Amino acid sequence: MAHARDLTWGCGHRNMRLCCTAVRPMGRARTLRYRRRQIAMMPALMPTYARADLAFERGEGAWLMTAEGRRYLDFGAGIATSSLGHAHPHLVAAIAEQAGRVLHVSNLYRVPQAERLAQRLVDATFADSVFFCNSGAEANEGMVKMVRRAMASTGRPERTRMICFEGAFHGRTLAMLSATGNAKYLEGFGAPVDGFDHVPFGNMNAVRDAITPQTAGILVEPIQGEGGVRVAPDTFLRDLRRACDEWGLLLALDEVQCGMGRTGTLFAYQQSGIEPDVLSAAKGIAGGFPMGAILARESVAKYLTAGSHGTTFGGNPMAAAASNAVLDVVLAPGFLDGVVRRGDRLRAGLEKLVRQEPAVFAGVRGQGLMLGLVCEMPKTEVQDACVAEGLLTVGAGENVLRLVPPLVVTEDDIDEGLARLRRAAIRLRASAMGSRMPEAVP
Ligand code: PLP
Repeated sequence: MAHARDLTWGCGHRNMRLCCTAVRPMGRARTLRYRRRQIAMMPALMPTYARADLAFERGEGAWLMTAEGRRYLDFGAGIATSSLGHAHPHLVAAIAEQAGRVLHVSNLYRVPQAERLAQRLVDATFADSVFFCNSGAEANEGMVKMVRRAMASTGRPERTRMICFEGAFHGRTLAMLSATGNAKYLEGFGAPVDGFDHVPFGNMNAVRDAITPQTAGILVEPIQGEGGVRVAPDTFLRDLRRACDEWGLLLALDEVQCGMGRTGTLFAYQQSGIEPDVLSAAKGIAGGFPMGAILARESVAKYLTAGSHGTTFGGNPMAAAASNAVLDVVLAPGFLDGVVRRGDRLRAGLEKLVRQEPAVFAGVRGQGLMLGLVCEMPKTEVQDACVAEGLLTVGAGENVLRLVPPLVVTEDDIDEGLARLRRAAIRLRASAMGSRMPEAVP
């Protein structure tokens, strides 16, 4: 009987007839496994992303190449992550060299590469101490834990709540989904984690109204990336700092996307005239190697004592070596000035494009090399037209196309990207008018 049932469900192999001749009576566990294989219709790689049908074999600088030899200009940089572009020789050498020595030892031992990296970040910022982890969500989650712990350790254990902002994105862990507050991302995951109060971005009156005796701090992105490249005005950040000082709250900046040189300073807050109490970084921090960090003042960090927080991989020799290599480049004299210059060039070109193509583009937002093109047409259509022209971009909220090229993008690359954007706009207009689409460039 078992044999007959197995034939009914099949074995999941393509050649059913051949395979079925080989079917033998099976144990129950094996039978169930075979049944599951047969009925599963989904790809082996879980489809949590709506992926474009593009696969890249190699890259160089701001360019990515498919196996078929098509070249794409990468103004998405792995969602603002490949800060040194692709195959940067210094980063490649640092990773290869470290991989040949020791990849991982755990945080039960000293990690000299991480000690050096932490010291460099401390020297370059407001922070006195740094904790390394593996992603932006993990950095934010740890940052909120740090804020709560500092409150509890200073006699205010009831202060556990963070004020967050509409349009924010802080990551996909359960708590950071709640900090993000976007109903779409929370759907189906049960009750949100308590402790996050949302107010409109940029609205100081709403912030003041939201402060209660349970408030511990304010969590804000100096530039909302996923939310649509929305820049917090300096006056808003200063008012947030003042409110925190007045009410004894901690200011936590999420610089996962806008940090690590993207806006022309190592961190975006450095252009606003304020300093946070804690700050999260990730994405570009190790140029594409998975890494996150929490930077903190001593007055906050000192309460995260041994055993109170941790992670297996955080700041291991490999990640720290990659991140040190990124800092070698980003902190080299003149590099960040170059980011500002190239950001200005891209912005000027985009503003011209908005004037030239008002049916497609409505405006430009952002800072440095974190720019957003507000679209008149649906951003997904604009993004597809860009792909057809060999240009990779990233979508964001409020119908915005994000342009976040590698920080090493050249002036020629920027001009080429602008030309491809123009062609994408012409392609879209032609298609809207029902004319024949021009041939793709790549
Ligand atoms: N915070 C910000 C501002 C982000 O943009 C992101 C990711 O896009 C995150 C947090 C989450 O980072 P990760 O995807 O590395 O967990």
